[in-house]
Amino acid sequence: MNNPEILYMVVPCYNEEEVLNETAKQLKAKYESLIDRKLISEQSRVVFVNDGSKDKTWQIIQELHSQNPMFFSGINLARNSGHQNAVLAGLMTVKDICDIAITMDADLQDDINAIDAMVEEYYKGNQVVYGVRSARTTDTFFKRFTAEGFYKFMKVMGADVVYNHADFRLMSKIVLKELENFKEVNLFLRGMIPLIGYKSTNVYYERNERFAGESKYPLKKMLAFAMNGITSFSVKPLKIITSIGFIMVFLSVIAFIWAFAAKFLGAAELGWSSTICSIWFIGGLQILCLGIIGEYVGKIYAEVKQRPRYIVAEFINNAEEKDNT
Ligand code: UDP
Ligand code: MG
Repeated sequence: MNNPEILYMVVPCYNEEEVLNETAKQLKAKYESLIDRKLISEQSRVVFVNDGSKDKTWQIIQELHSQNPMFFSGINLARNSGHQNAVLAGLMTVKDICDIAITMDADLQDDINAIDAMVEEYYKGNQVVYGVRSARTTDTFFKRFTAEGFYKFMKVMGADVVYNHADFRLMSKIVLKELENFKEVNLFLRGMIPLIGYKSTNVYYERNERFAGESKYPLKKMLAFAMNGITSFSVKPLKIITSIGFIMVFLSVIAFIWAFAAKFLGAAELGWSSTICSIWFIGGLQILCLGIIGEYVGKIYAEVKQRPRYIVAEFINNAEEKDNT
């Protein structure tokens, strides 16, 4: 490799004063070794995105930058916008000055040593490299149970995500450019990146315990995140309503037959048959109608998103008059 690529790490930080210096130290060592091995260019940087922290996070980022401007940069968001938005803000800010970007949490839970393998996979032609946890031994049972349940539930609900992959991933410049065209407001990056396509692969690593501080994702936020993931990625819940509607209407036919049979066999109270029939029929009809409305809401939802309908990966053209740059 003659010209090593410029790597920008995007690290979202929300109240991370306890870990930031250690994270910076470890990343700097990693960068030095990568630069030595000529895997990345000397112009590579680590960008800390301060997501409206209430503690000294931004001051620490500023200090890191003034001590080591060749390694550390910072982005300060106007207010707390949430993990996903902070990551996107970082990526969109650096997309024109880097060749590759890696996103990673600030708490050192993701294995910094996986970065080597990610960069190597990139040089093998992969445009996206997902960091995937091979084990969850360090997570508490509760976190493991809820997190693994999350991936399975997402799949059943029709949102295809890479199993056990959080937001530790490498993306090439091409992918970042395409990500810019996803205009949706409810961000769920780990569902969006697979939609972009291109050649991708996984790098496995063991997830560590948080270096210091507390998780900024309590159960409430995690549930909201899962709900957002499903409702931003799939209209399957709406389709389920339609199916329930059909089943209810079908059951109401059976209830009809049953009620009539009971009536003619003389086993029914006066008024019972008509009541039972209408309950089942009206109930089924209502759910069915809701489902049909839901189908249209689903279409509107897809339209409002204005996602790109296709992504051109390559353009082979023999036109002579102009070179395509
Ligand atoms: N984070 C952020 N904004 C928020 C919440 C979290 O930028 O509103 C960052 C946080 O600093 C960390 C990453 O997102 O770098 C993941 O958060 P955390 O480690 O608390 O989540 P967990 O690993 O427990 O799921
Ligand atoms: Mg964490």
